[in-house]
Amino acid sequence: MSLKEIGEFGFIDRISRGCLIRPEGVHTAIGDDAAVVRTGADRFLLVTTDLLVERVHFLREATSGFNLGYKALAVNLSDIAAMGGTAREAFVSIGIPDDCPLAFLDDLYSGMQHLAAGFSVNILGGDTTGSKQDLIINIVVSGTVDPPELLLRSSAQEGDIIYSTGYLGDSRAGLHLILNSIPADSPELSALFDAHVLPKPYLQEGRFLAASGCIHAAIDVSDGLSSDLGHILRASGVGAKLYAQQMPISSNLQVFCSRFGFDPIEYALAGGEDYTLLCTADRKEAARISEEYRAAFDRPLYPLGEITDTGRLELLGADNRLQDITPTGWDHFKDE
Ligand code: ADP
Ligand code: MG
Repeated sequence: MSLKEIGEFGFIDRISRGCLIRPEGVHTAIGDDAAVVRTGADRFLLVTTDLLVERVHFLREATSGFNLGYKALAVNLSDIAAMGGTAREAFVSIGIPDDCPLAFLDDLYSGMQHLAAGFSVNILGGDTTGSKQDLIINIVVSGTVDPPELLLRSSAQEGDIIYSTGYLGDSRAGLHLILNSIPADSPELSALFDAHVLPKPYLQEGRFLAASGCIHAAIDVSDGLSSDLGHILRASGVGAKLYAQQMPISSNLQVFCSRFGFDPIEYALAGGEDYTLLCTADRKEAARISEEYRAAFDRPLYPLGEITDTGRLELLGADNRLQDITPTGWDHFKDE
């Protein structure tokens, strides 16, 4: 069997067997957005890590150091947000190729420090090494959460309403501009470019949702709606029905899709790196939480579907036809 056949997630399943040597004290091991460790009766420690590799996750010539540093930390903060947690400390490890200018690295730390300051996160350590060719950045972030407020991928229940805290598909549109060297020559394209390079960590929103007491499950959208919702469905043993007409699609994405001939629904379903929170709320509390969220953030919580007992991911199209969706988000190894 090859890595290509089992894919990134098959690989993680495979290596996770045998990793839990000392289960006491571990609440959630491999399989959620962060690991959850008991540190006392009233506190959970959250730990998450993400790796960014040049030419896989970013093109050095197409990014500023600031934006890269910001994003490398943002994607980790997003995982803490998806657990309902407060981010606390960060550790930054970096592999630096010879041709990387010091000014770029200074700028990278400015971007990281700017975001860290915005969310009261310390950078407490890391590691520095050379690299033969590619710039490599790995960040570990810790956080905390009160046990009753922990949000997991595995707690969705049939009947729950599925929400996103923001628009879906914008980041992939921004990536399309970068990969095709299309200038962001209008306010719409410029907003899509920003959505890709400066994703917002939804930490305050995650805390708000966790404290509301009516969110059952959550994940952040890193690989794409269909793929990340798929993780909730698998972990919770449920299915979901999405409504094409309710997809949170920005007017910027609409403009982009009409100009370049893409389908916005496809972008919303399969586009990754939006880093919005996807959560499932108790149906009976859904109206209340939506109202309170709007009052708190002056933005809507976007309802886009519901949890079902089918075990499948389905999309109700604008034509009222129901079709099965195969998760099509990002996998580092699979071909399709
Ligand atoms: P996310 O997109 O939220 O960062 P991932 O899909 O990267 O999550 O990872 C899913 C789970 O697998 C997480 O619990 C993560 O810590 C774990 N994981 C990923 N890669 C490895 C690895 N090489 N060894 C051990 N655990 C891993
Ligand atoms: Mg995640």
